[in-house]
Formats: sequence, C-alpha cells, structure tokens
Amino acid sequence: MKKRITIVVLGHVDHGKSTLVGRFLFEKGKVAPDELERFAVQSAQMGKASFKYAWVMDRSDESRRRGLTLDLNFADVETRNREIHIIDAPGHKDFVRSMITGTTGADAALLVVDSQEGIMPQTTEHAQLAKLMGVEYVVVALNKIDKVGYDPGAIGKTAGEIRTLLKGLGFEHVDVIPVSAWDGQNLTIRSEQMSWYKGRTLEEVLDDLEPKGGPKEGTLRMPVMQVIQIGGVGTIVLGRIERGEIREGDEVMVVPVNKIGIVKSIEAYGKPLKKAEAGETVGVALRNIGRLDVARGDVLGLLDDPPQLVEEFKVKMALIGDVGIVKAGWSPYIHCHTAAVPVKLEAIEMKYRPDSGEAEGEAEAGFLAKGDAALVRFKPLKPLIIESGEVLPAMARFALRAGKETIGAGSCVWVRTAEKQANPSAQPSQGFSFKWQKTGKAARDQKRKKAEENRDIWGKPIRK
Ligand code: GDP
Repeated sequence: MKKRITIVVLGHVDHGKSTLVGRFLFEKGKVAPDELERFAVQSAQMGKASFKYAWVMDRSDESRRRGLTLDLNFADVETRNREIHIIDAPGHKDFVRSMITGTTGADAALLVVDSQEGIMPQTTEHAQLAKLMGVEYVVVALNKIDKVGYDPGAIGKTAGEIRTLLKGLGFEHVDVIPVSAWDGQNLTIRSEQMSWYKGRTLEEVLDDLEPKGGPKEGTLRMPVMQVIQIGGVGTIVLGRIERGEIREGDEVMVVPVNKIGIVKSIEAYGKPLKKAEAGETVGVALRNIGRLDVARGDVLGLLDDPPQLVEEFKVKMALIGDVGIVKAGWSPYIHCHTAAVPVKLEAIEMKYRPDSGEAEGEAEAGFLAKGDAALVRFKPLKPLIIESGEVLPAMARFALRAGKETIGAGSCVWVRTAEKQANPSAQPSQGFSFKWQKTGKAARDQKRKKAEENRDIWGKPIRK
C-alpha cells in the first residue's frame, strides 16, 4: 500500500499557491482539459484569465470574484509511492486561523514564494507558525521563475534568504525547487528552460515525504478541521486523526456539544475506507449529527473515553511578540489543534532563562516581556480541549495570538478537566459554566456553508 501524506500549501497572498496546486492536479490528470478550458473562458470573462488554474482549487464564487483563497481547500492526488492529500490554505493575513488549522493537520508544508517578490510578511509568519504547530519538514517552491527569464542569477539571492530564514526557524532539512506554476516547469515535468537545475521536481520531492504518523494506542481523537453538509449524505466532518482509529459503524462523541454520532462512512485520499488511523486526514459522514452540532475546533472521540474539556491548564511557553508587559488577567487567543479560543492568564508560576532553560524562580515571576520563557496557568474563556504533551503532543502544541499577531507559543504540560463532562443525553451538562451556544457564529457559518451543499466530500461540485 502506498504511504499516505497530507501537505499544507502556505505562503504570502498572490505568490501562486492555488495556481501551483491547480496546475499540479491538471498535470496529474485530476482535472480534465475541457474543464480547465471552461475555467479559462469563465475566468477571462471576469477579467481574471490568469486565475484559471487557481479556479481548480478556489471554488466558491466569492473566492473567484476576489481572486483570493478564503478558506481551506482540499484535493487528493496520487504519485508513484504516495497518496497525497493537499490542503490549500489562504495566504491573506486575515485568514491566519484557517492557515493554522490546515497546518496542524499536515505532515509537511509546501511554502510557495514568488521569486521576484521574495520573502514577504506571510512567508515568514506561515513558516514560523508551521514550525510552532509541529511541522518538521518544509519544501519551498520558488515560483514564477518565468517572470525572471528562468535566470538562476535572478533567484539566487531569494533562494539563499529563504534557506537562512527556514534554518533560523529550526527547519533542519530544506528543499528549494525553482518552479513556474503557470508554465508547468519542475512540477511534474523537469524544466527544459532550467537545465541548470539539477535537483528534484516537486513531484519527486513529494513522492519521498514521510508521514509523521501518530499514536495508534489510545482511543480516537480527531479535531474537526472543516464541516460540510451534503444533501443525502448528511454532515461530514473533515480532520486529521491525531490518535487511535475510527471505523465505519463506530459511535462517536462530538465534544463540546456532547452528542453521539454514528460513523456512516469514511473517505480519505479520494477513496472510501472501512477504517482510518492516527496520522490520516479523513472525511467522516456522521448520522445523528446536524450541521450546527459541530464546528471547527471540536473534537471527536469514542463514548467510553470522550475528549475532555479543560477548566484550567498549565503550559510552558515563550513570549515571542511585542506585547509590552504581560501579567495575570492577560487574554490572548490560543490556537491549539484546530481550535481558537480566548484564554485568560491566571498566574505566572515560574520563569525560565530563555537561553539555558534554567528556572529563574518565583520571585521574578510577576510579569513577562518579549523573549521570556515561563510556566504559566491559563483558564479558557470558551470550551477548550487541550491535552498535555505527555499524553498527546499534537494536541498540546499551541500558538498564542492577539489581534493579527503571533505573540507566544509553547506546549501544554498539565490540565485540570472540567468536572461535568460529556453527557450522552445530548444536553449540555448543567454544572459546566462555559457558554457554548454558538448561535451567532454557527448561523453565519451555516449561511456560508450553504453554498457548499452541492459538493462532494472534498468540496468538488457534484454533477447531477
Ligand atoms: P495565491 O494567492 O498564492 O493562491 O496565488 P494565486 O494562485 O491566486 O496566483 C496569483 C497570481 O499569480 C495569479 O494571477 C496567477 O496567474 C499568478 N501566478 C501564479 N503562478 C505563476 C507563475 O508561475 N508565473 C506567473 N507569471 N504568474 C503566476
């Protein structure tokens, strides 16, 4: 059996992410020439002819009108040795939440960089967040080489800078591939215009990537990345299985709504499956779960060991952004697996020397400033499922954001779970004080998702 991997496509807006994925899928025969021709005609009519490949991935009307990826898009493709699930993340700074969500589900990141523009703010931000969220391997597609005449001299500086950036962030192994997404150079076919490039094509690199896997022992944990509703199929939850396995017919608990769903079918990498396991990204069709019962950031587990909401948790973290002085009461957003929840800093318990990791002691623990590392205690202000790193690293790692900035990152080391937990009666448990009514957001989500109702499990329009 081929190994299965999930890659997330990252990079600054307009650097060519959607075009690259669209063109790659076209070259792999996943998009019929007449379909592409239709995109070409329609996009030209909208005055956006240069987006014909991007339209393969950007399917919503709004995305196409704005020429912008607005949420996660998905596609599946096979290479010689791999089944690959591709997550195309939005590059615009307003959609970083989606980008982080996509990243937590990935084995590796494909960072697209415009070779003329070079490193831009979201190039750096995405690479940094990918590293913080546990991605260890990044492939760089140095794109739009056609615009600089395929000249190695013109891209040498950018290639050097991007390597330095990524090494500085802690990525040990970095592949940089010069490509033209538009002309289809070095994606699946070795470029004739770039005979000076002796490295691998993008397909060759992807075909060699190793899945991160995940712990198979322990019961199911599947953070929800996206929810779609399909007439006749019902509610479909997309996400990466972070632990355990899921089988057709399983009864699963959706937390925090605490409703029981039955797994009607599972699809992954474009194929139906009877079961899927840790490390795989899947779509799960659930009986008995409505569209409003489940949202991004929720977690699926089994009835006898459901995911636990936490009332309090401790983390080891570093403050990496400029936020002035941070004290108890500070309230950033935590981004952990696919969740983004406001939290309140309860106490700074210990400061560490950032260089040696040595404890500095409690006396100086009254505040934190940029560059400080500390053990701190948080309280979630909305329902949150987070695990300690000892239990499940993938659901312990987090980034802290305030406004549009990433200001901290770390890993959870201890949790105190809420007393009243998942209650199979389908009623929110009485003793738990969080408000989890998602009416406002859920209603908005529903409206947005309505447009997706006529799509298949990976978001492609269903032909009736
Ligand atoms: P995204 O925002 O990163 O997804 O970027 P898009 O895929 O939407 O592309 C933005 C623009 O860059 C579009 O007009 C594309 O046609 C153009 N573009 C993408 N790749 C290339 C390339 O290799 N060469 C040239 N010349 N233009 C490209």
